[in-house]
Amino acid sequence: MFLARAEDGRRITSTRDEQGYCPKCNDPLVAKQGDVYEWHWAHRPGKSCDYRAGTSRWHYKWLNHYHSLDGWEVEPDETVLKCDALNNAQKKAVLLMSKYDLAQATSFIQSAREAGYAPSIILNSQCIKSLQFSENRFKQIRRSDMTYVMFCRFSSTRPGKKLASFWLDVEERTPLIGLSAGLHRLTHDDEYWNDVVVDPAPLPVPRKASE
Ligand SMILES: [Zn+2]
Repeated sequence: MFLARAEDGRRITSTRDEQGYCPKCNDPLVAKQGDVYEWHWAHRPGKSCDYRAGTSRWHYKWLNHYHSLDGWEVEPDETVLKCDALNNAQKKAVLLMSKYDLAQATSFIQSAREAGYAPSIILNSQCIKSLQFSENRFKQIRRSDMTYVMFCRFSSTRPGKKLASFWLDVEERTPLIGLSAGLHRLTHDDEYWNDVVVDPAPLPVPRKASE
């Protein structure tokens, strides 16, 4: 996890100056401060708590980025909304998705909209690895591939049909053929029913703080 809870209830980033506790199980945590991952917190070996389990190097890059921005809360209380970052003033919510998961995306988009937040999903390039990039679209390789369903349901360019924003993070270290590094917006339009439309012009992406 990126943030622990301090003795007095504050949320704190990884530090050896004070003890951090798990927000879910209250166990004392270990500050991880290596060179490869962003600094974070971990349970002691052998603990079975699943709070923010499976947070990857890619997740930490983004959590660190949102934590550095004014107005953003990372790893918010899951009883408010299960997501990775929230902006209460702008009413925005972000989910980081390292593996394609239609059920997770659907649940996040519905609960965010019910709570009055505009949902955005940032996808790791692993999510679209079953699709082929050509002419600024991702195309199905197999007819059975259902990856486009998420975009068709929630990101249609038809008026009134856009329920969420989708962004693909193309990393410097894992470039996709034909796409430059950065955040590419993904949409869906009726003309190419089985495809996902890619904006070829990327937004810059945050780098690891120490770089
Ligand atoms: Zn825990």
